[in-house]
Amino acid sequence: MGAEVSENVEGGQTGSKVLPLRPGLFAVRVENGNYSGHLIGSKCTLCNWTFFPKREVCPRCSKVSTVETALPTKGKLDSYTNVMRALPVVVVPAPYVLGAVRLSEELVVWSTIADRKAEDLKIGMDVELKIRKVKQDKDGNDLVAYFFVPVAA
Ligand SMILES: [Zn+2]
Repeated sequence: MGAEVSENVEGGQTGSKVLPLRPGLFAVRVENGNYSGHLIGSKCTLCNWTFFPKREVCPRCSKVSTVETALPTKGKLDSYTNVMRALPVVVVPAPYVLGAVRLSEELVVWSTIADRKAEDLKIGMDVELKIRKVKQDKDGNDLVAYFFVPVAA
């Protein structure tokens, strides 16, 4: 059985613990050595709007009225661009593809698009969330990050 937490979880693939690279953005589950999970967003209980990353105040109606919610793990590629030079905080080597992924009518999240080059992508194609190890820290823990990858046709 897999345990699901958003801060850290025992039983990394090679490390002793699994730690999200940026805590609070996504939840990780480990099952049979495989990572899965979902992005953590907020849903407004007053206007029903969903957004990411999570926050207490609804950006639409400005009320403190949100609850944490698991976002869909599948979406469609709305737009994308090639990033030729990575910022220091980005762990994937440049060039890489940054994409806008539409998870619902109102919700678009920006994410690294993995496994394909920009010239092989198409607007509107189906993509799904993947949680992958990106590096190991000095204490031997697996640091994981989220990506969206095109769904194999
Ligand atoms: Zn609202």
